[in-house]
Amino acid sequence: MIDPDRIQVLHDGPARKGRYVLYWMQASQRADGNHALEYAVERANELNQPVLAGFGLTDDFPDANLRHYAFMLAGLARTRDDLQRRGVKLIVRLGRPDEVALDLAGDASLLVCDCGYLRVQREWRETAAVRADCPVHQVESDVIVPVETASDHEEYSAATLRRKVHKHLDRFLQPLPPVPARRDSLHLRVGGEDLSDVDALLRKLKIDPSVKPVREFPGGINHARERLREFLARKLDDYADRRNDPSLDLQSHLSPYLHFGQISPLEIALAVRSARTAPPQAVEAFLEQLIVRRELGMNFCHFNPRYDRYESAVPDWARRSLARCARDRRPAIYSGEQLERAETADEYWNAAQREMLTTGKMHNYMRMYWGKKILEWTASPEEAFRVALHLNNKYELDGRDPNSFAGVAWCFGKHDRPWTRRKVFGTIRYMNAAGLVRKFDMDAYVEGIGTRE
Ligand SMILES: Cc1cc2nc3c(=O)[nH]c(=O)nc-3n(C[C@H](O)[C@H](O)[C@H](O)COP(=O)(O)OP(=O)(O)OC[C@H]3O[C@@H](n4cnc5c(N)ncnc54)[C@H](O)[C@@H]3O)c2cc1C
Repeated sequence: MIDPDRIQVLHDGPARKGRYVLYWMQASQRADGNHALEYAVERANELNQPVLAGFGLTDDFPDANLRHYAFMLAGLARTRDDLQRRGVKLIVRLGRPDEVALDLAGDASLLVCDCGYLRVQREWRETAAVRADCPVHQVESDVIVPVETASDHEEYSAATLRRKVHKHLDRFLQPLPPVPARRDSLHLRVGGEDLSDVDALLRKLKIDPSVKPVREFPGGINHARERLREFLARKLDDYADRRNDPSLDLQSHLSPYLHFGQISPLEIALAVRSARTAPPQAVEAFLEQLIVRRELGMNFCHFNPRYDRYESAVPDWARRSLARCARDRRPAIYSGEQLERAETADEYWNAAQREMLTTGKMHNYMRMYWGKKILEWTASPEEAFRVALHLNNKYELDGRDPNSFAGVAWCFGKHDRPWTRRKVFGTIRYMNAAGLVRKFDMDAYVEGIGTRE
């Protein structure tokens, strides 16, 4: 039984007489730990019908390129196999996701969709809800606490969201056992793309081929679970105290898998919470990032649909303070291209940029430094915001995520507070290379990036 707070009826009415319940899978690209899928199976069992899963493969997703699509399709191929074992056929079709869903919904009794928080994802769902002839139910499965249960407005900071999320944790941190499907859809004759040859499918898409797939992060829930196992065995104990050190590899590396919905945040949270030998402060520190910080990004994009514009993403106090520094002399000005090619005079920044270019994932602490320096080295904060978002979303495998917009906006004061006034930064929190060197072995970090290239 799925908690009713996860469900929103987007198009009301009794189930129509169709051939199947359609699970329109778009954000939660997995067969396990997926509330939308389990809800679809429950409803299909009540109707004595099978579940058909459908995915719309658009080559028009903002900022997505070969790197992202290769990762996503590898994951989808694995998900197709996992769904098949549960008696659910996955149909992948080229086209706008809402149109693909509407087409498949032509024979459906009920359309169940999952929930991504970006504008484009919301627009797809709205179109499908208005135009579908059958009822449309949305189920939120990529958060621990549904966004509107946690809060009814855009939160000021993690501190203001934390209490609201924590109050619901016992209710939502509940295992989600798979519901056996009474009828299977494997025999249904519904045409779609062939996922067994991902390279051939990639060639059909009109996408930017210049950003190459990365070896370090193969897509798929099996690889996500390997990362999770490694994190529990080798990294969690030190997570609270040492994860910020970029020369140590103590992050979980789960963000690309979370971004594409290839693993459920619930599965990760339950596994970490039940790690018996881990220090309690390590478990707490990790759950703070995975739940409070991550869901703050969802809260931001959900309640602020202009999350990608400087004027609306960056708080008033920060924009006013930065505007007062407009004429301050910058220590250097780099063009977007110089930044992209990692051609600055700062070897730590260049290493971080190269880490992102080559591995598709920059260390969290370096992301903060990276964004702050772009602000310092660009002619205006508006330009800095644009460049940082563009580079982040082009190269990070976990880019184009609510956390991408929240993370970049954070560098400009979002979810933070005013600090001591300085040149260029005004009262925005400041970071510098001396701080990195004081805290961490930065030579080891730079050397480590060299060996990964
Ligand atoms: C400028 C900037 C840009 C960012 N861009 C992105 C992005 O494009 N995509 C993205 O997912 N995250 C982004 N972040 C947040 C954070 O850096 C990444 O989530 C984290 O580095 C992912 O690595 P991990 O999974 O190994 O993290 P871990 O430390 O292992 O954390 C586990 C999970 O907790 C969540 N988390 C961890 N740190 C944060 C954080 N600071 N804010 C919100 N959630 C967090 C993530 O979901 C992460 O997967 C950005 C941060 C900044 C400052």
